[in-house]
Amino acid sequence: MATDLRLPTDRIVRPDKDRFLDDENPFEAMMSRFDRAAELLDLEPGLYKVLRHPEKQITISIPVMMDNGEVEVFTGHRVLYNTSRGPAKGGIRFDLHVSLEEVKALAAWMTWKCAVVNLPFGGAKGGVVCDPLTMSAGELERLTRRYTAGIINTLGPDSDVPAPDVNTNERVMAWVMDTYSMRVGHTVTAVVTGKPVEMGGSLGRREATGRGCMIVTKEALKHLGMPINKTTVAVQGFGNVGSVAAQLLKREGCNIVAISDRTGGYYNKNGIDIDAAIQHARTARSLEGFKGGDQITNEDLLTLDVDVLLPAALENVITKKNASKIRAKIICEGANGPTTAGADSILDEKGVFVIPDILANAGGVTVSYFEWVQDRGGYFWTEEVVNDRLTEIMCNSFKEVLRLATQHKVNMRTAAYMVSISRVATVHRLRGIYA
Ligand code: NAD
Repeated sequence: MATDLRLPTDRIVRPDKDRFLDDENPFEAMMSRFDRAAELLDLEPGLYKVLRHPEKQITISIPVMMDNGEVEVFTGHRVLYNTSRGPAKGGIRFDLHVSLEEVKALAAWMTWKCAVVNLPFGGAKGGVVCDPLTMSAGELERLTRRYTAGIINTLGPDSDVPAPDVNTNERVMAWVMDTYSMRVGHTVTAVVTGKPVEMGGSLGRREATGRGCMIVTKEALKHLGMPINKTTVAVQGFGNVGSVAAQLLKREGCNIVAISDRTGGYYNKNGIDIDAAIQHARTARSLEGFKGGDQITNEDLLTLDVDVLLPAALENVITKKNASKIRAKIICEGANGPTTAGADSILDEKGVFVIPDILANAGGVTVSYFEWVQDRGGYFWTEEVVNDRLTEIMCNSFKEVLRLATQHKVNMRTAAYMVSISRVATVHRLRGIYA
């Protein structure tokens, strides 16, 4: 299939940061979970301080010649949170909400995510404050190239490897790769991941996050002794992660009874025809008008009587306010930060088995790692090999987190943070402090 190089138009409708209650600041929530895991691990105070600070923060001004002949200046950031385990890995987002604080927190998040699946990567994130939907392709290309030039000294296959994130895509990664390659004088495919397959991208990358969600959901069902062919699933968000996860879970025998996107949800107790929904979303550019189920709201979807709930759209959808109404036995967090810290304890009391975001949606960064390995080796794998190796990593990571959760009598989220933090901490102890 030819690579789709269009820029995204179905943007994630992200809530204003001012809207967050204390319980709903996703980054504070992440750090509060970090603290709890660090305490359980009895992390030494010096190391605790090191891991709570980003290694490097870069902020640049990016002048861009706009199509109307005027110069506009944008602000861009790149944060390398921790590189003790290997090159920094993390996406670049183009969004009006980008701030240094947010980029810093997302870079920390990437550090824990890479460590939980044991990839030899650290964590990073980048962002440019802009509204890409109001910009032409030429303006976006000039912005991308100048941003890349501004952070060129941190970039490199051995130091910092970006990927797509909110409002960036394969095409943007191709520009980053080309700009870097021009600067160093030869083609360096491994400097970014999420590239078009034709120029060093990996087969299976686009489906990897949804596939990872399917794999860990199957592991959770196995662990809880729930037969897959009797499992009902509700999926919130029908983009890259949600639609692929729904399609693959259905292929495994689950009954997907509800799906939704930003335009609303659909319920069908006999099962939604996921291929038809994907086709509808492709042509209509949303689920609006889909005829395969009764209309429900996104809020209704969360509290349906299903076995598995798979939030794959936004942060903060399961909160203190609705957690007690959740009826699912398993929550697989396809999205980043869909559950607030305040909701965690309510879900624990109800006995809901939560597969936390840093584990559940780590399939994407895992196949990004495969892409980097393939680029560096100059030898490309079949999709089957990619999927088999992804399955192995996701299953092993799930089992390791579950083992720690059982051993310490904690939930899967705390256990996932414990696995990550102890892996990063071990490397710091072995390396010592350079003086
Ligand atoms: P996407 O843009 O492809 O899809 C997002 C979907 O969410 C769309 O269907 C959109 O209509 C829907 N949506 C937006 N606002 C909504 C709302 N208010 N209520 C319900 N649905 C709404 O994005 P994606 O790549 O599928 O990412 C989804 C989530 O998964 C994000 O949190 C993202 O950070 C996370 N994630 C994605 C990847 C990846 O590889 N794509 C990897 C890790 C984590």
